[in-house]
Amino acid sequence: MVAVDGPSGTGKSTAARRLAGSLGAAYLDTGAMYRAVTLAVLRAGREPTDQEAVAEVARRCRVEMRTDPQHPGVTLDGVDVASEIRGAAVTEAVSAVSAVAEVREIMVAQQRRLITVATTPVGGIVVEGRDVGTVVSPEAGLKVYLTASSEARACRRSAQDAAAGRESDPRRVRADVTRRDSLDSNRGIAPLRMAEDAVLVDTTELDLEQVLRRLHDLVAQ
Ligand code: C5P
Repeated sequence: MVAVDGPSGTGKSTAARRLAGSLGAAYLDTGAMYRAVTLAVLRAGREPTDQEAVAEVARRCRVEMRTDPQHPGVTLDGVDVASEIRGAAVTEAVSAVSAVAEVREIMVAQQRRLITVATTPVGGIVVEGRDVGTVVSPEAGLKVYLTASSEARACRRSAQDAAAGRESDPRRVRADVTRRDSLDSNRGIAPLRMAEDAVLVDTTELDLEQVLRRLHDLVAQ
């Protein structure tokens, strides 16, 4: 199993998915799971900062993940929400929702089940997120922590948003990336941090192919 953690805009998702595809492994985007719960909270008309209400929504909503790297997917209560979870409303609220202990308990348990299924008896899985190497799977065979300068991360995020037809004003995207990183890094539970035995890969000056080459080298070691 390969754990790929790091802040947003480091190229984590694309690199993790492509790596899984070329290894013939499964792929799990844990951020999409937190985003799906956040969408459920918003749809229920609950405040993302109301921990009790958020926990209650998390207990009763059903988030399901498809782990095929060629066709990854996420459903909420049986309905595809892959594109809706990338919208501004979810992005704005997701850090608050993912800071709720009960949400994390439910998500981590589900992530561990998916990892077990994908790695038994053969196969393997590439899992990306913020706490995969530290909390979800500290025993992962390889842990990578992707990082990049905040300028590079904001630029990538803005390009991704523009390509998907979403709000892509660079200054707003940059403010969002900074705000989310700060919330994710400073929360009391499972804060974003690099596992002690993770390999740091700075992607600021690397294109996707170079990142993939580096990841393949690490897998081969
Ligand atoms: O990876 P992505 O940017 O889609 O993640 C959205 C949010 O989900 C992050 O900003 C973070 O608050 C939360 N998250 C988390 N733990 C993970 C993955 C994502 O708290 N393992």
